[in-house]
Amino acid sequence: MADPSGFLKYTHRELPKRRPVPLRLRDWNEVYEDFDEETLRHQATRCMDCGIPFCHNGCPLGNLIPEWNDLVRRGRFRDAIERLHATNNFPDFTGRLCPAPCEPACVLGINQDPVTIKQIELEIIDRAFDEGWVEPVRPHCETGKTVAVVGSGPAGLAAAQQLTRAGHKVTVFERDDRIGGLLRYGIPEFKMEKRILDRRLEQMRAEGTEFRAGVNVGVDLTVEQLRADFDAVVLAGGATAARDLPIPGRDLDGIHQAMEYLPWGNRVQEGDDVLGPDGEPPITAKGKKVIIIGGGDTGADCLGTAHRQGAANIHQFEIMPRPPETRAESTPWPMYPLMYRVSSAHEEGGERVFSVNTEEFVGADGRVTALKAHEVTMRDGKFVKVEDSDFELEADLVLLAMGFVGPEQPGLLTDLGVKLTDRGNVARNDDFETSVPGVFVAGDMGRGQSLIVWAIAEGRAAAAGVDRHLMGASALPAPIKPTAAPIH
Ligand SMILES: Cc1cc2nc3c(=O)[nH]c(=O)nc-3n(C[C@H](O)[C@H](O)[C@H](O)COP(=O)(O)OP(=O)(O)OC[C@H]3O[C@@H](n4cnc5c(N)ncnc54)[C@H](O)[C@@H]3O)c2cc1C
Ligand code: SF4
Repeated sequence: MADPSGFLKYTHRELPKRRPVPLRLRDWNEVYEDFDEETLRHQATRCMDCGIPFCHNGCPLGNLIPEWNDLVRRGRFRDAIERLHATNNFPDFTGRLCPAPCEPACVLGINQDPVTIKQIELEIIDRAFDEGWVEPVRPHCETGKTVAVVGSGPAGLAAAQQLTRAGHKVTVFERDDRIGGLLRYGIPEFKMEKRILDRRLEQMRAEGTEFRAGVNVGVDLTVEQLRADFDAVVLAGGATAARDLPIPGRDLDGIHQAMEYLPWGNRVQEGDDVLGPDGEPPITAKGKKVIIIGGGDTGADCLGTAHRQGAANIHQFEIMPRPPETRAESTPWPMYPLMYRVSSAHEEGGERVFSVNTEEFVGADGRVTALKAHEVTMRDGKFVKVEDSDFELEADLVLLAMGFVGPEQPGLLTDLGVKLTDRGNVARNDDFETSVPGVFVAGDMGRGQSLIVWAIAEGRAAAAGVDRHLMGASALPAPIKPTAAPIH
């Protein structure tokens, strides 16, 4: 039982400090300093163990938040990691990367700052790894069934871990040269050091999951072979088709999608031999005037990467207006609030420009030199140009970070013949099974561009569907149902 007056004793929400900007820009390590145990336990004491814990509802995984808050308050970290792992395969990823929809849903947040749920989660799992409590969980028996997981992002990894532990022989295929999906080559090192991913993969290998990187399913391995070799398939290929900006000048050199740019930074951190004679990767912001189009998290990852590469200056454009400083009235508690956020990358510099639309890229000798843009305002739900607001801004590197339109269809999906939703995602039933029997889908490939926490929840739920398909029944938990979407 929680301390009923804990939130009165510790009225302030405290979080670890970010390392000083000049210091952290000199390396690629994670930006947060350590958090001492006493402060953490005080923060956990603020949890009221509400009769109706709305935070549960906020977390797609249904994490048992008040339970592990209370265990941390008592210093029972080993019990806490058991409760945390009961619902979340990878709190090491979510504790670092989740936007934490649980926190704005926290009841304490109605009239005080909410409990620091995400930080408590992170400290539990990091302590567990440090203490050697995270061990391989080997299956009790083998079923003799085989499962292929296509894609090694958080959805594929969660599905693979659940199915391996249920006794199936699981092989994860990944077309990239390393395992991890966006955790590996999208998310920069300063948000999550790759050693965090590697130590988790080590656990999964020891449990019996097999990984095969460098295999593009549908090209290197035909879908016929895949179906012949495996009793079930989980598609977890992500939503990798990026939204483009087809305006005049788009074909100039120096304009790249975020996911053409970010992997190079990550490869340098992996120690890959990708540096040219100038000591820089093929796409770099070093010494350049950079404009990032897209004000979201991917844009912020480009921003932090460009800072570390030594850009001359950086602007980040967003077509939406600047959000309010505090929770917008349109998103009352316990909804995830629309409000102005300052990520670590924003704190490091660059200029954020809101309500702006880019209409043309300008270039010389085939290379981008500037872009033309204007301010916009919202009228009847549409963006309208503000008269006489045109401007031109110099740029020699433009990064497009405007989101993803869905999964890539040629090859894997067309060859399998799975049905798609109106939005172009892979359609699935309540068991996460596609229109092709025995083929399941999880994560961004079925859901559309989303979050790591949703990918893990979907991976877990799809694993339960696969297990039921193979065995007739399943004891695996299924935290969510897919959102209904029309099939065509
Ligand atoms: C730059 C960036 C930063 C982000 N930051 C955050 C964040 O901080 N927090 C957060 O919650 N979310 C973040 N997201 C979103 C999050 O990363 C995704 O929602 C999540 O990774 C989706 O997981 P997934 O497993 O469905 O797919 P992915 O992580 O996209 O993995 C899919 C994998 O499948 C592989 N694949 C595809 N087709 C094939 C094939 N035919 N054969 C073999 N392999 C194949 C791909 O190469 C890829 O590695 C970010 C996204 C981006 C782009
Ligand atoms: S996974 Fe995300 S939403 Fe769930 S408890 Fe952790 S931070 Fe909150």
